[in-house]
Order: sequence, then C-alpha cells, then structure tokens
Amino acid sequence: MKACVFRAMGQPLEIAEVTDPIAGEGEIVVRVKNCGVCGSDLHAVKHGFKMPPGTIMGHEFSAVVDHVGAGVTGYASGDPVVVMSYMACGKCDSCAAGHGSRCGAMKLVGFGDVAGAYAEKMKTTVGSVFKMPPNLSHRAAATVEPLVVGLHGVHRAGLRPGESCVIMGAGPIGLVTMLWARFAGASAIVVSEMAEGRRAMALTMGADLAVDPRLKNPAAELQKITGSAPDVIFECIGIGGTLAEAVSYAKRGGRVVVIGVCMEEDSWGPIAAMNKELDLRFSLGLEPGEIETAIAMLAAGRVNTAPMITHTVSLNELPAAFAALSRPSLQTKVMLEF
Ligand SMILES: [Zn+2]
Ligand SMILES: [Zn+2]
Repeated sequence: MKACVFRAMGQPLEIAEVTDPIAGEGEIVVRVKNCGVCGSDLHAVKHGFKMPPGTIMGHEFSAVVDHVGAGVTGYASGDPVVVMSYMACGKCDSCAAGHGSRCGAMKLVGFGDVAGAYAEKMKTTVGSVFKMPPNLSHRAAATVEPLVVGLHGVHRAGLRPGESCVIMGAGPIGLVTMLWARFAGASAIVVSEMAEGRRAMALTMGADLAVDPRLKNPAAELQKITGSAPDVIFECIGIGGTLAEAVSYAKRGGRVVVIGVCMEEDSWGPIAAMNKELDLRFSLGLEPGEIETAIAMLAAGRVNTAPMITHTVSLNELPAAFAALSRPSLQTKVMLEF
C-alpha cells in the first residue's frame, strides 16, 4: 500500500510503498477515508519525539473496516468507523475506571508505537474502534479526535452553565474547546489569538469576542461583558510563557486548564497563582464515554466542526501540504482525503 512516511527530524515526509497490514487476533485493519493533520504531527517532525525513521503519522481519522482478525465480532468489511488515537490495555486500574487515556501501557497511534493513518490502511484493536452513525460524514468523523480533546478539557474544567471563560489560542483545539464551552452553557467566551484569520474563525464558530492579546487584555475585555473576571482560562497554545499569562488572566479562586501541549521548558512564578488560590489542571485524555458523546453530538448537529476544515489534500499532496503548515498560514485544519 501507499503511505506518507517520516524519515528524519526536520526532513520532508515522503510517499513510499509499504507492506499492507494484516489483522491478527483481536485486531481490525481499516481503510482510511479522512485524516486530519494535527499540530502535534508538526511538533513531532520539528522536535523529534524520538520517532523512528519509517514512522507513519496520522491519528485523527475516519475509516471503513477492511478486514477483521480472529475473535473480532460486531464489525464487518465496509463498516464506517472512527478510530481512536491510542490503544489502551483494557485491564489496568485506569482502564477499568474508564480512563483509558491514563493507561500505563497506552500506545499512541501515529508517533512510532503504532502506524498511523497517513496511509491507505492501518491496523488497530477492537477497543479503539467506534461505529459511525449513518448520518455522519467521514470528513466530520475525522474531527472527532480533536473534538474529544476539547470536550475532555471542558470536563476537566468542571465548567458550569453561566460561567465565563477565556480561551487562549484559536487553532483547532482552541476552537473545539470553544464549541464545548458554548455547549456547556458558558455565559461569555473571549478568545485570545494573535493571527487575524484565526480570530475571524473563532467569531464564525461562536466566540463572543476575539482579541489580539498584544493589543487587548482578554480578561479585561471579558469583564466588560460579564462584569467580572473569567471563571476559567483554557490554555490551548502550548508554548513557553503561556502558563504565566493564563494565571494572570484568571480570577481569584478561578481555574486554569492546560490543554496545549508544551514541549519546551517553561518557567513562571507560582506566587501569582498562590495569591489567587487558583486551581491549575492539566488535560490530555480521550475517554471512551467522551468519544461516544462527541460522535453523537456531531451526528446530531449539536456541534459543528465543518468551518474549521479549510483544506483537503490527497495522499500524494500531503508532504507538500505538511511542509506548508510548518510556516504561518491561514489554514486551520488540513484534511487528508481518500
Ligand atoms: Zn491531534
Ligand atoms: Zn490500561
């Protein structure tokens, strides 16, 4: 089969012929339909992530079942599915409690452990596959993974109806976090984002206000709307310095939820968080229950990720599209489409 392959840190991806996956016991091989390009993929190629040469990336995807291995029931060739970006052991305490993404034996899809979906086919296990309702498009289904990242962040925040929030960053994760904050009944949402195109996208998708943090303080702007400082700050950027910024925006006794994946060293003064007696929470996970919620709400049209899919590319076009994304651009979510 054809795949888009990582060779070395900082090098362009390459289209190559690789061996077709074959499902063993408990495994399912799927034929990829759509796969989103994620900021983590760009980070991984830039910074390494210790990915071995030959890694096939791609972890935000929809597919149809190609064939199933021994012992797999309930799935047949042609079934449309959403495949999760990790494989959990299904047996440990975290898995038993429904926190599959905290599994100590967790394997990530598309970063070297398990071959990802920048390919015609990929192999997964039955526990990582979710059936797609008939009224959900493959393109929309490929946004389930990032959508669940945002949903988990809103759950981690414990956001209650009537509370307000500032969302830092209007990349795909900031945008989906905003969709769920709205869904959860947020009274006001101010998005903080330096790129003008992304601020426009945030407004299109339902933010009350989108500000350039170099020109305006998003917390002060939110206070003009609600009369008080934001209850929750969602950090959806993931670079050094943003944690201190998030703490500065939060109200006394408020919550800061970190969803942005920061791969660099950061230093900040905890006293600012101490003085406000803040709750600082980190959010990573994608839990099975949340995945089912995201699929159902997307299929029902209660959340809509369509505006953020700005470009679709073929497998052959993916290496060039990927390189283009490494530079500042107007693209939000680039989607591989078969
Ligand atoms: Zn991702
Ligand atoms: Zn486990």
